[in-house]
Amino acid sequence: MPSYNPNSTLDDRILWLPSSNGIYSAASAMESLKTPHPLVSWYKIVWFPQNIPRMGFILWLAIKGRLSTLDCVQHYNPQVVATCVLCNSQAVTHAHLFFKCFYSKAIWTQLLNKCGCLGIHLSWNDFIDWVSIHWKGSSPSVVTKKLYLAAAVYFIWR
Ligand SMILES: [Zn+2]
Repeated sequence: MPSYNPNSTLDDRILWLPSSNGIYSAASAMESLKTPHPLVSWYKIVWFPQNIPRMGFILWLAIKGRLSTLDCVQHYNPQVVATCVLCNSQAVTHAHLFFKCFYSKAIWTQLLNKCGCLGIHLSWNDFIDWVSIHWKGSSPSVVTKKLYLAAAVYFIWR
């Protein structure tokens, strides 16, 4: 075991190790309690100053795959029939509800036409990645596209 010989000529000092200057502050204590999370590429699609909070929240849940779609409900209650109420054909998953359902596909086609994004045929996750790359900034046209997206997800979900 290594030995430690304290220097008896120096005074003892108290150091707060989480801060860079060794001085305690409430801010450095709060910062030390935070666990770092990487930024997701889509956060500016969901959270921007002009967003409508309830629509942004539903969009956030949809992107995270956390909406209570019928397949999720069926996991807890197997007696629930998980067919889509919009097309009455397939099990309702996020992928079906937002891109594969013919009803929502018609909505997306109209929406993407309004946004000048003709011919985009992607999965839900690929679409969100595409949007994150192409809808950057805070110009009125980009904000309008983001609002269209949030509104479409919100009303399809409703
Ligand atoms: Zn459907």
